[in-house]
Amino acid sequence: MKTTLQIDIKKTEKSKLPKTDFDNLVFGQSISDHMFVADYINGEWTDFRIEPYTPLSLNPANATLHYGQSIFEGMKAYKNVSGEILLFRPEANQKRLNESAERMCIPAVPEEVFMEGLFQLLDLDRDWVPAKAGASLYIRPFVFATDDYLGVRPSEKYKFMIFTCPVGNYYSKPVSVKVESKYTRAIEGGTGYAKAAGNYAGSLYPALLAQKEGYDQLLWTDGKNHQHIEESGTMNVMFMIDDTIVTAPTNTGTILKGITRDSVLVLAKEMGYKVEERFLKVSELENALKEGQLKEAFGTGTAATIAHIARINVNGVDYTLPEIPGNAFSNQVLRKLDAIKYGLEEDTHGWIQKV
Ligand SMILES: *Cc1c(COP(=O)(O)O)cnc(C)c1O
Repeated sequence: MKTTLQIDIKKTEKSKLPKTDFDNLVFGQSISDHMFVADYINGEWTDFRIEPYTPLSLNPANATLHYGQSIFEGMKAYKNVSGEILLFRPEANQKRLNESAERMCIPAVPEEVFMEGLFQLLDLDRDWVPAKAGASLYIRPFVFATDDYLGVRPSEKYKFMIFTCPVGNYYSKPVSVKVESKYTRAIEGGTGYAKAAGNYAGSLYPALLAQKEGYDQLLWTDGKNHQHIEESGTMNVMFMIDDTIVTAPTNTGTILKGITRDSVLVLAKEMGYKVEERFLKVSELENALKEGQLKEAFGTGTAATIAHIARINVNGVDYTLPEIPGNAFSNQVLRKLDAIKYGLEEDTHGWIQKV
């Protein structure tokens, strides 16, 4: 990318690499040496810099702490067999960040700032991208308000930052989920489609209640009547009913437009599967479970790519799904996406960008 963006780089004097155990990585615990920072002051993004990863100092009146203007993104970089770093659809994350920004009254981050910050950070910290099969570098871009002012209004100052974490082979063991019939994650007109910090805060308590009952995650339903399945709160969800893939549409503003979701749907259509983007009624899911028509159910998201669902609780009744064979759609598409991400298979969709 041609750029005029000037980024000041201050390198760490003591890399954390020698102290990092790449064989025992816990998601989000080891953080790479550097971070990218930009400030929004007087109506423009400025002061682009890469610095050693370090704590921020914060005024107690910081607007984010009180009113929650805070959004984020999540994506991954992979190392191919030649040691090159591959990014999966970063431009989709950049666009989505700005869709979230608009909803939360946060100024858009220009494409050049996002991409140049990201590429230069990855270039500097390229040794942090694990080379092991299945491992990757998780990337967290985020924007938050930095006014020190207690009035309720959009902040005038913001920070955009990116830091990264090496993560191990994130194989998700099949999860149990519960269809939520009381609490609500998102409602039409709300902020469900934005990757906003507050959406997560509100979902923790219902998720904790479900965990106490032995479920890993919730299947959120619509906020009005709790009659159709929306998504899982960190993942979109898909159901293979007979030979058709059913997943919620993203035009109600209540569903996060997952990039994994979109990629899976593109590949599903190419692989000749029938895809229906429509709401699945809870009653229809219940019937499909009773009649044995639900062949596969899985979440899609950057962390796990595909997370198989093994057990679903609907209206107080637990249903166990059949074992998912290796040639099932969810396993085929997982292998295909992994092959594309690690550069083992040709990228025919323009999804990969090399750093
Ligand atoms: C991030 C996220 C997803 C998954 O999106 P990907 O782009 O596939 O990682 C799904 N649901 C919610 C609520 C999310 O925040």
